[in-house]
Amino acid sequence: MNSRFVPDEWKIIENRFEPENSKDSESIFSIGNGMMGQRANFEERYSGDTLQGSYVAGIFYPDKTLVGWWKNGYPEYFAKVPNTMSWIGIDIEIDDQQLDLATCKIKSFTRTLDMKEGLLTRSFIVTMSSGCIVEVTAKRFVSMSEPEKAAIKYSLKLSGGNGKLRITSYINADVKNEDANYGEKFWEETAVKTEGKKVVVKSQTRKTGFVVATAQTNVFCVNGRDVTDGHTDISTRNQYAASIFTYQYSSGDVIDVTKYIAVLSSLNHAPGSIESKAMSKAYEAECEGFIMLFDKHRKAWAERWEQGDIVIKGDIAAQQGIRFNIFQLYQTYTGEDPRLNIGPKGFTGEKYGGSTYWDTEAFAFTFYLNTADSHVARNLLLYRYKQLDKAIENAGKLGFKNGAALFPMVTMNGEECHNEWEITFEEIHRNGAIAYAIFNYVRNTGDKDYLADYGLDVLIAVSRFWSQRATWSDHRNKFVILGVTGPNEYENNVNNNWYTNIIARWTLKYTIEVLEGLHVVNNAKYNAVITRTALDLEKEISHWTNIIANIHLPEDTSLGIFLQQDGYMDKEQMLVSELNPSERPLNQHWSWDRILRSVFIKQADVLQGLYFFEDDYDDETLRRNFDFYEARCVHESSLSPSIHSILAAKLKDIDRAYKLYLRTARLDLDDYNKEVKDGLHITSMAGTWLSIVQGFGGMKIKNDKVSLNPTIPDAWESFSFIMRFRNKPLKVEVTERDVIITNFSDSGINIELYGEPVTIEPGKTSKLERK
Ligand code: BGC
Repeated sequence: MNSRFVPDEWKIIENRFEPENSKDSESIFSIGNGMMGQRANFEERYSGDTLQGSYVAGIFYPDKTLVGWWKNGYPEYFAKVPNTMSWIGIDIEIDDQQLDLATCKIKSFTRTLDMKEGLLTRSFIVTMSSGCIVEVTAKRFVSMSEPEKAAIKYSLKLSGGNGKLRITSYINADVKNEDANYGEKFWEETAVKTEGKKVVVKSQTRKTGFVVATAQTNVFCVNGRDVTDGHTDISTRNQYAASIFTYQYSSGDVIDVTKYIAVLSSLNHAPGSIESKAMSKAYEAECEGFIMLFDKHRKAWAERWEQGDIVIKGDIAAQQGIRFNIFQLYQTYTGEDPRLNIGPKGFTGEKYGGSTYWDTEAFAFTFYLNTADSHVARNLLLYRYKQLDKAIENAGKLGFKNGAALFPMVTMNGEECHNEWEITFEEIHRNGAIAYAIFNYVRNTGDKDYLADYGLDVLIAVSRFWSQRATWSDHRNKFVILGVTGPNEYENNVNNNWYTNIIARWTLKYTIEVLEGLHVVNNAKYNAVITRTALDLEKEISHWTNIIANIHLPEDTSLGIFLQQDGYMDKEQMLVSELNPSERPLNQHWSWDRILRSVFIKQADVLQGLYFFEDDYDDETLRRNFDFYEARCVHESSLSPSIHSILAAKLKDIDRAYKLYLRTARLDLDDYNKEVKDGLHITSMAGTWLSIVQGFGGMKIKNDKVSLNPTIPDAWESFSFIMRFRNKPLKVEVTERDVIITNFSDSGINIELYGEPVTIEPGKTSKLERK
């Protein structure tokens, strides 16, 4: 490990200021609470390299599409999560000089992200040109218990002389996105208001009309005494409002600014009254005070950690890595609002527009399903359910009929907003992951009502899509799915991508199975589904059954592997081990055309399918496919190594599983991909969780039971994780010798450990032998 950060179980600590890594740290130290979040930009002015980012969940700007050659069916826009007004600003002027870490002489600098408590702290000492020595401690958090509130406590100790201090604590809505296709501004101002010491700035996104109002109140103290009155002026201008504090300081003075913030959006409040509500909320925060607010926030974090912590003993880097990933996942999505989802970069950067990808269902979903109350995963499903009409419309635009749905590759509100034909039109496998998540949810929670009330509508619409997208080939005497891009985006427009075909077949089968199951248990609900979806039982189901029986699934029988696509073996067969390391990553060294023609795979593809449907294949089949594809996979998507790691663990190749795991665990902390400055890889962080729980823990749900096959990497003394089954938590600790299982629920649970039945009594812990 070659990390810039101090090894610590619960904290990320940086104790040097490295301006060349400033943007990287802004990403790493990001904080959020599912409703809003921000990069770790400095409160005081910083004239060095920075990507300013403050984001509010669920709002977006439709940035006009930028493409060379317009294709029919392209969306008009790419949704961007707008950089929203900044509320952290606290400019410090001492003896007429700005405190600016890019220009002042820095004597010491430490930044700490306390993941246990969700607190970002920065302490530094600088010398100003007047000779004044300034010691700063800045603490801030965005409340996990009251997600519209946030607070900053910025303390300065001044020594070495007397002089003039001016503190400007402000909200600034004059912000832009770096990633704007036409350099457009995404916001227009609507109001700046003040009331006593409260100020509010309200802005509205152009075109989409989302409104955000941010209010602040400030308390200024000198040596512990509140001196706000008499020393503070309010100043406003366009898109800006500030409290300005001026003071003649003496050596030894300690000055604190406590800034109470409320950020409200029109997603939850009527735009007409939003400013006054924001002001009241900020004032409410002030009345509670920093300590009380923080205490509630800390408790909310403690509850989260109780539900989802992973403890790894004997490997501090791994411990720090997994906690960082869990922390960021919880910061990104809390699951209280079915209109929200998990952007690949969360609240840590602009890239990927903060939108929803298949990453949610294929990776992140299982994390939330196991580490939060079941309504959280249900809300993720409802997000897609609520967008079903748009998915049907989307498929309609591409020529599909009769209620067939194609969910978008990238979306904010259900509309497709990705515009590369090979992805938008061809990466249709995403539909399969959305269906799979429904199955995953029901298998874990047992909530079959979800299927009858919502799930079947989605499953039927997706099945209709597959049944129209699969076409009959007289030549093969099979159904084929032509012109697709599989998860491996390093080949496009291929025929019969095994993963796409297998997940299409599975969706059709599962939909029929669920329909039949419902028919037996609840005829009324069954009839309601048939009526709602106008399903033609005779015609549609028999067509689906025909596809299930006759879909072409490419394989190479001599090698005993499934083929990624029909033409895969025509490619020059090379292995990753034969690549010149100086040409890696390929996407930065090879022409796109060369990549497309090559055998090299960006991310798990056939193996993604074997991961989902592992139980359908014997270990030998898994091993042959794993060996073949792992040797050809360059893992140039952060989503990839975790899936390979899980399969390697399943095949008892623990060293390989561990090596692959290491590539995901500290991807961002150690910046393997040299792109952390743009933001964190939030969705692939869930992959790390999967590699521990499903990989080393061997956890799956099989025949309505939890099944565990734990193993442990040599580098670890023990590890433990918490998972949920039937919405009840279970803790599993794995040591070199034992598997210790605690059942936190009030009823006994029957599980399988290494294939043998075991019952864990309610509230009890069982210590069993590790094999
Ligand atoms: C991956 C996709 C993924 C996207 C967003 C791409 O690099 O190939 O599978 O959906 O990133 O994370």
